Amino acid sequence: MPKVTVIGAGLAGTETAFQIAKEAKKNNTDLEIELYEMRPKIKTPAHHTDNFAELVCSNSLGSEFLTTARGVLIKEMQHFNSIIIESALESKVPAGQALAVDRDKFAEIITEKINSHENIKIIRDEFQSIPETILENNSSDYLVIASGPLTSPSLASEIQKLTGNNEFLKFFDAASPILTSDSINMDIAFKASRYGKGETDDYINCPFYDKDDYYAFWQALIDAEKAPLKDFEKEKIKYFEGCMPVEAIAARGIDTLRFGPLKPVGLTDPRTPDKKAFAVVQLRQDNVIGSLYNIVGFQTNLKWGEQKRVFSMIPGLENMDIVRYGVMHQNIYLNSPLCLNPDLSLKNKSNIFFAGQITGVEGYTESAATGIVVARNIIGQIQKQEIKPLAKETMLGALTNYISHADPKNFQPINSNWGIINTNPDDMEKKIRKNKKLKNEFLAQRSLELIGAAEASSVVLT
Ligand SMILES: Cc1cc2nc3c(=O)[nH]c(=O)nc-3n(C[C@H](O)[C@H](O)[C@H](O)COP(=O)(O)OP(=O)(O)OC[C@H]3O[C@@H](n4cnc5c(N)ncnc54)[C@H](O)[C@@H]3O)c2cc1C
Repeated sequence: MPKVTVIGAGLAGTETAFQIAKEAKKNNTDLEIELYEMRPKIKTPAHHTDNFAELVCSNSLGSEFLTTARGVLIKEMQHFNSIIIESALESKVPAGQALAVDRDKFAEIITEKINSHENIKIIRDEFQSIPETILENNSSDYLVIASGPLTSPSLASEIQKLTGNNEFLKFFDAASPILTSDSINMDIAFKASRYGKGETDDYINCPFYDKDDYYAFWQALIDAEKAPLKDFEKEKIKYFEGCMPVEAIAARGIDTLRFGPLKPVGLTDPRTPDKKAFAVVQLRQDNVIGSLYNIVGFQTNLKWGEQKRVFSMIPGLENMDIVRYGVMHQNIYLNSPLCLNPDLSLKNKSNIFFAGQITGVEGYTESAATGIVVARNIIGQIQKQEIKPLAKETMLGALTNYISHADPKNFQPINSNWGIINTNPDDMEKKIRKNKKLKNEFLAQRSLELIGAAEASSVVLT
């Protein structure tokens, strides 16, 4: 009986194991699935619990709206009954257009579903070295490495050997603080969603009405003391633009924050509708009961005492009670265009697959999405079916295509975005081409049709 071993019960590993088990059951395929998770025995620097699929920073999986690239990806994943998306919907908290979750409930639901799955065997241990049974030629066993951006050092060196000693690529990712809602001064802060989208009270907003208060906050932020980096991390700090520490955004200029996470537009205090804020900090609900909120876009590497001192200068947060401080960590990922085939297996070992952030996708949703692709391809191999790659006009197909075909000289982690979708202007009428909203609707519609057709397109090999 073939055996599939999945390393890492994070976003990608749980999705991969779940999808493989689901497909195997559907097709009456006998196989063994083992899922390794090293926590709690070995901890990572960013995880706080023993739960599977823990969200280490923001509690948002991104916009659910079909006119956004992430929204399309979420819809495509729902087509495959993604455990990550279904569990997110079961643990959803109000957050305007975003699919945000109660992080503990979300991870508990997934842990319970995977633990109680009759076909998935859980091994709570560090996976350190790749066994001969997987490395030998014609092995009928499969390995999926979904150990994430904080892969344990011993496994990381095994991976390096497997990939012909190609150096890992690296960048920094940071997490933002979480605080108790009863420590927010609601005489100053107010509830509202930007432009009233979603439920009107989805976010708590802390307005800077006074320009000088904002500039004093900005100055304190850029002068604040940062947590020291380890020597190997100091060589060259490379951030991912979408998750840059708030102090690094501030250091780019006095007003950069006001055009980024502190954008004041579309947010008005209903008590003072004529008053215009100079900058607004938003807080997003972090658990179902609404007792915790995170500061949106405030991922940070400031020392903990400095986070308390500087963030308390935000109007309404003067007495804030931080229950989890922000942290920053170095992430590793493969130079996938050099190492991986389009089905996300290793170029020199087609029974070893990679899924998640380690492949060079960025984000919770994208990491989980690659698990669907890998599961589909492994089941295809086991059932001796030719699995056609998902169309490049779909978000899942476009992401997979990017990580296996981008320029290896400048390979950067990627989120879902419209730019990677295969678009032929001749496919669209002129009026659609010229209107961004119509164009996105057209691309979303086409992508969902193609995802629907994908399963019917696999060919059984004799
Ligand atoms: C500090 C930080 C902040 C981030 N913030 C965000 C954010 O706000 N929004 C967002 O969308 N993305 C964020 N990311 C990026 C990314 O989406 C997450 O890291 C995501 O969890 C990646 O999913 P994954 O499944 O690839 O890895 P993970 O979810 O990290 O799962 C990997 C699992 O493998 C386990 N593991 C590692 N090595 C071994 C081993 N040898 N044996 C057994 N188990 C092992 C780990 O314990 C972990 O549970 C952040 C990343 C970091 C590091």
